[in-house]
Amino acid sequence: MGLDLIVRGGRVIDPSQDIDAVLDLGFRDGRVAAIGKDLPAGDGAAQAFDATGCIVTPGLIDLHTHVYDKGTSLGVDPMRLFHRGAVTTLVDTGSAGPGNFAGFRSQLIERIPVRVLAYLNISFAGIYGFSKRVMVGESGDMRLMAPIDTVEVARANRDIIVGIKVRVGRNASGFSGLAPLRIARQVADELAIPMMVHIDEPPPMLDEVLPLLRKGDILTHAFRPFPNCPTTSDGKVHDCVVEARARGVIFDIGHGMGSFSFAVARTMLANGFAPDCISSDVHALSIEGPAFDLLTTMSKFLCLGLPLVDVVRCATHAPAIALHRPDLGSFAQGCAGDASILRHETGTFDFVDSVGEHIAGRERLAAAAVVQAGNLHKC
Ligand SMILES: [Zn+2]
Repeated sequence: MGLDLIVRGGRVIDPSQDIDAVLDLGFRDGRVAAIGKDLPAGDGAAQAFDATGCIVTPGLIDLHTHVYDKGTSLGVDPMRLFHRGAVTTLVDTGSAGPGNFAGFRSQLIERIPVRVLAYLNISFAGIYGFSKRVMVGESGDMRLMAPIDTVEVARANRDIIVGIKVRVGRNASGFSGLAPLRIARQVADELAIPMMVHIDEPPPMLDEVLPLLRKGDILTHAFRPFPNCPTTSDGKVHDCVVEARARGVIFDIGHGMGSFSFAVARTMLANGFAPDCISSDVHALSIEGPAFDLLTTMSKFLCLGLPLVDVVRCATHAPAIALHRPDLGSFAQGCAGDASILRHETGTFDFVDSVGEHIAGRERLAAAAVVQAGNLHKC
């Protein structure tokens, strides 16, 4: 049987199968159908794309985005992230809560061709007060905590909702301290799905937050700057962080506006503590910098010395595991027919983190084309 699309001659990097080789990829009926050297063109109907000189990865997954565009002030256009960034799965983390998830689903998620999955915010209206001039954390008023509604909406939307989002920290939860996290813990347990936990400045402290996370839960903004950073002043990793990883807590970057520090990342990598997942936390206030997008965030880790294969794993196979979606982030036969076709550029590139440190990088990843459900789009 013929293939619908062949991507030929790229350097295929699929950490889920330990593949790093120049290979062809075949897609049929929206899924991965074949991988190998010199795949036959089939019945002649196949579309072919020459990926020579490019890197071809399973469709990139951005585990932390805000794409409730127009429905929330922090949302950005998911199609921009798809077309410009070659990201095929966008995970929205708590833009919507149970009070407005229906609109997110019907007005946006169901109307675009790109896959959007979501962590549902424990707070009723999600992240509703987030702009340059208005910044009101949705966890700051305990009257907004909506455990019963969150359970109901998550149960009714299990095809899209992958977990519960809670934001704690001085900015996100004000005087509420750990209370929103404790409620999210109860909701996640009731639903038997993971939590993604945001942390910003204390209170609460990192060593108060992490003990409430279990295997499969995600700490995002994991390499944030002081205070509540994962590193100690003498260049070590905090014990609470080491213990959390040992019990299976997932450490996600979530770069965003204020949540990523090169200095912290260098210390973490020097201690052998690479992130589990690399995500952008792209939103209205980070898309024009310092986060920009997923490929920029991945490129920063290349420049910090994380090997390319590891960087790819952190945006494909690793987030797929975190999402409990083995059909994503892999070129195993039958998986979603998604691929990101990237240029690995060398030169001198300026990168900046959330605290204004600049580094001159020697390489970066850029989008060349993207395959979604077996359909090719040039970037
Ligand atoms: Zn975020």
